[in-house]
Amino acid sequence: MTFTHSLYPDNWSEIAIAVKQEAKWRCQKCGLQCIPPGEKTSHLTRSQRRVYTLQVHHWDRNPANNHRANLIALCSACHLLYHQGGKSNVSPGQLSLW
Ligand SMILES: [Zn+2]
Ligand SMILES: [Zn+2]
Repeated sequence: MTFTHSLYPDNWSEIAIAVKQEAKWRCQKCGLQCIPPGEKTSHLTRSQRRVYTLQVHHWDRNPANNHRANLIALCSACHLLYHQGGKSNVSPGQLSLW
């Protein structure tokens, strides 16, 4: 798990949880129902768990801009898509899993 503390604010996990709860733990692009924290995932493999992990994306790709309008909940596949092809200064490896 890679956290880039310099880019994300101290209360990032709270911000991210709020965004995800508002999205009802669904990807706001493809509608995939992801797994809320606390849900039993022992029947899933590690890679399956990753697929169903909801992440929060910044529209302007700037993790320092945590204005609500800049944030969207995405599944990991859609999130990756948003970071492919465009000119992003944030590589997927730098993304917070929150
Ligand atoms: Zn998705
Ligand atoms: Zn993103």
